[in-house]
Amino acid sequence: MTEPEARPVLNPATEEVIATVPDTPPAEVDAAVQRAAKAQHSWAALPPADRARLLRRFAAAVDGQLEELAALEVQEAGHPVAGARWEAGNVRDLLEYAAGGVERLTGRQIPVASGVDLTFHEPIGVVGVIAPWNFPMPVAGWGFAPALAAGNAVLLKPAEATPLTALRLAALALDAGLPDGLFQVLPGAGAVTGRAVVDHPAVRKIVFTGSTATGKEVMTRCAAQVKRVTLELGGKSPNIVFRDADLERAAAAAPMSFLDNAGQDCCARTRILVQREVYDEFLGLLEPAVTAVTVGDPADPATDMGPLISAAHLARVSSYVTPDLPVAARGTVPTGPGFWFPPTVLTPRDPGCPAATEEIFGPVAVVLPFDDEADALRLANATRYGLSGSIWTRDVGRALRLARGVAAGNLSVNSHSSVRYWTPFGGYGESGLGRELGPDAVAHFTETKNVFISSEE
Ligand code: NAD
Repeated sequence: MTEPEARPVLNPATEEVIATVPDTPPAEVDAAVQRAAKAQHSWAALPPADRARLLRRFAAAVDGQLEELAALEVQEAGHPVAGARWEAGNVRDLLEYAAGGVERLTGRQIPVASGVDLTFHEPIGVVGVIAPWNFPMPVAGWGFAPALAAGNAVLLKPAEATPLTALRLAALALDAGLPDGLFQVLPGAGAVTGRAVVDHPAVRKIVFTGSTATGKEVMTRCAAQVKRVTLELGGKSPNIVFRDADLERAAAAAPMSFLDNAGQDCCARTRILVQREVYDEFLGLLEPAVTAVTVGDPADPATDMGPLISAAHLARVSSYVTPDLPVAARGTVPTGPGFWFPPTVLTPRDPGCPAATEEIFGPVAVVLPFDDEADALRLANATRYGLSGSIWTRDVGRALRLARGVAAGNLSVNSHSSVRYWTPFGGYGESGLGRELGPDAVAHFTETKNVFISSEE
């Protein structure tokens, strides 16, 4: 038998190999599913308060190792340390919030004649979570925390580039007392290990986050088994700035809305749409705000933006910034090793060019002018995506009209906030399918069963 491939994990800021992690071959995926199914039965049979208590212990274990987890995220994903700490804390919060959902997973009693009608939330069984490299810890937690709370077992397939935090989280779950086999991490190639998880008939739901192309493939394969699937895919989100907005605030907030995580963020506001009358003034304010962003060593608390994830991704991002595109602002990056790309703002003449329409997933935004509210809405919705968006205006009525009119799942007004573990999150159009997080997150990992009990003699 051949040894599974041992995959190097690189620090994207230094290009040094920090670990090697063996891939999980399909036969091992099958064995993992068997173990998970067994563990799931005993987990679902536990009294709800005991399941909740174990999840709170898992949350406490994550909290206890917050610095270690954050340091791993800095090393394998190149995230600035402040963000990495937030991410580890987000996993803790997700687990605590989900734990609160265990005892609240109540069904309904529905009025019927001649008896009683009850609904129950039954666990789905074994759930596969396929995670991306851009936010390895939180995105995995969006899936595994509510899935576990609902009484399921979880197989987590981390991205090839970022398996280390996932492996550490699984070890912490065991330390916290979760049953062996209930939460397993299966590193490996998407097309091999990921596909084996998706195709396994005993895996009854897939939670996928990644590219739209892969998401479509996953959805097709799930369809073959009528498998439940949630997709969280790409975005090309608008940041709409009206002439009546507080322009200084809007310009000060715009850079980190597309530079956070070096733009490797599905919610990045990469299409900045500015009302024509204030277009030049806004660009004048934006340029210094972009160049003030500190790009450098992710382990330095003063750093705002780190490197891209890989050399291949750097090449992909670079390919969008062609010499014909006017540059309105460009930041600086460190010299030497690492996959660096500077913060870049483009003002393309053609709003249909690839830089203005495709998800670049790097620190690149375009600024485009619009004439009036109708024009802003038309431009904002001229995309196959629909994940998030922001509206900057002092007119409450306009803010509401635009927030209702933009075809996206997560809108913010005079702010770029979009993700909180206690509010729903997900996309319209090709940005995804289904919702994660929020008050219904645990219920999304259940089947609703309806039971009628006759009271007739
Ligand atoms: P990807 O979609 O290929 O990978 C995401 C996850 O899916 C990884 O864990 C990967 O191993 C797994 N995977 C890949 N092929 C699979 C398959 N056939 N079956 C099951 N699992 C599979 O994304 P990527 O190649 O890492 O990144 C490419 C682009 O995707 C990025 O440049 C970006 O545009 C986009 N992306 C978006 C998000 C997001 O949050 N929406 C996250 C990561 C990447």
